[in-house]
Amino acid sequence: METPAAPRGLREIASFHAHVYYDPATRAEAERLRSWIGERFSVTLGRWHDAKVGPHDQSMYQVAFAPEVFPTLVPWLMLNHGRLSVLVHPNTTNPRRDHLDDPIWIGPALAVHGDVLPDEAEKEEALPPNTNPVLKP
Ligand code: ZN
Repeated sequence: METPAAPRGLREIASFHAHVYYDPATRAEAERLRSWIGERFSVTLGRWHDAKVGPHDQSMYQVAFAPEVFPTLVPWLMLNHGRLSVLVHPNTTNPRRDHLDDPIWIGPALAVHGDVLPDEAEKEEALPPNTNPVLKP
């Protein structure tokens, strides 16, 4: 990778995704984690992908959230992911770099198939949360 002349700015990050991976043995845990997240955080919960989709090597669902939610949600996931692996990545205009070079893993890292990801994309803004959290973290 090229060394940039100046550090990249945080404004590059439009939003974040947390991809929560599961398999048949851990799906119940993934369900419980999903309700816990929905009850506590202003996020957009994506649908269940029981089959592999996109660059992902295991069944998963996506949690989309605004940068302001990161400081509470991500540490909370560190404490509560159980046996599940979670990929947290920024959304900039380069999905391949976001997923392959710049993410953090909570739990064991899994394969990510970056060859299917573009290295340029429209900036993905955080969607309005579709959940109504009833508990505070
Ligand atoms: Zn993603």
